[in-house]
Amino acid sequence: MENTGLKNRGNQRSDVDDRRKAVEKLVNKELKSISDYSFDPAAASKNIENMIGVTQIPLGFAGPVKINGEYAKGDFIVPMATTEGALVASVARGMSLITASGGANVKVFKDAMTRAPVFRVKGIEHSSDVMKWISGNMKKIGDAVGKTTSHGKLMNIETFPNGRSLFVRMSYDTGDAMGMNMVTIATEAVCRIIEKETGAALVSVSGNMCTDKKPAWINAIGGRGKTVVAESLISRKIIETKLHTSVESVIETNTRKNLIGSSMAGSAGHNAHAANMVAALYIATGQDPAQVVEASMTMTVCESVDGDLYISVRMPSVEVGTVGGGTRLPCQTEALEIMDCSGNGKARKLAEIVAVTVLAGELSTLGAQAAGHLGKAHSELGR
Ligand code: NAP
Repeated sequence: MENTGLKNRGNQRSDVDDRRKAVEKLVNKELKSISDYSFDPAAASKNIENMIGVTQIPLGFAGPVKINGEYAKGDFIVPMATTEGALVASVARGMSLITASGGANVKVFKDAMTRAPVFRVKGIEHSSDVMKWISGNMKKIGDAVGKTTSHGKLMNIETFPNGRSLFVRMSYDTGDAMGMNMVTIATEAVCRIIEKETGAALVSVSGNMCTDKKPAWINAIGGRGKTVVAESLISRKIIETKLHTSVESVIETNTRKNLIGSSMAGSAGHNAHAANMVAALYIATGQDPAQVVEASMTMTVCESVDGDLYISVRMPSVEVGTVGGGTRLPCQTEALEIMDCSGNGKARKLAEIVAVTVLAGELSTLGAQAAGHLGKAHSELGR
């Protein structure tokens, strides 16, 4: 395709209009809907290049859901952006059951964002020397990090030697930012010092042991972003009257489908559809939607406790922020404000809400499948 010759001067409305008109000319098609949006495109200057307009995604809400978290306490309305009919209704149903049962407990067990550069070394002796230098110079490395960010803090470094490659996995506290830009910039600064002091050669600031935007067991086991677990105890009566199934059927569906089926398939996620809730919440609130991949590695567990249904989700990798990235866009800020999750001091609260929303979606979908209603709901609401 011929180059339009337009420079990426920023996202002033006139620039956006010029670019879109150039595209309209190239493809011989008027882009009426894409050109119709409410916010000042300059707000997105740090979020997109070559902006030509907006793709709008319908926004709904699920809830209220009662959350008994460490950071999220009370009844919450949860914004969800999706094009999948039946999703919001299903999550809302799960939330009403959780709320009627006294709410969901939820905890953030771990909180660290990682970057893992890969260095070329001369061999295993050199790897060993570099590893010794790193462990003996943590203060120097932490000081280098402090020169690049006032909010980010280096927490620890793990090293993984492999022949003439050395992977250095650095974990950071990123405050209320999801932190990928922050830790990439900080890690690059550290890499320059490691190169200078040890002779190891940086090959890539991201050596894929981070692991960002790919399903990876290192994240599922060790966590990346926030590791969150949510649970609720749903009474037998509620399962029977509201889900029209039994506690035993829900447990069996979870075991055979989410645990056995997922294992047989080699799936990294042992859940019904955690990615659905995460994607809708991430898109609504300006999170990085590609990180739905990590959140999809959720495990859902169901068991009977004194005849009632105990259901939990373990989410090892909830990568969310309430400052920076897409959260600064006007619609996304408002969506965060619906949950009082915009700005400083809110990231762990948002992570807790994400996990409870996933719990609600898992409960409702397992119930629908146990009762044989999944196809019916989709054909009534989604077609
Ligand atoms: P960011 O918008 O680049 O930076 C956020 C900045 O906000 C922080 O660095 C910090 O500045 C400042 N800040 C203000 N108040 C804060 C608070 N309470 N807690 C923490 N920080 C606070 O966002 P980011 O979270 O670092 O990165 C997210 C973006 O990275 C997303 O747009 C995502 O799509 C993108 N991304 C980048 C990569 C990559 O490799 N670079 C990979 C995946 C995704 P100071 O650091 O100066 O303190």
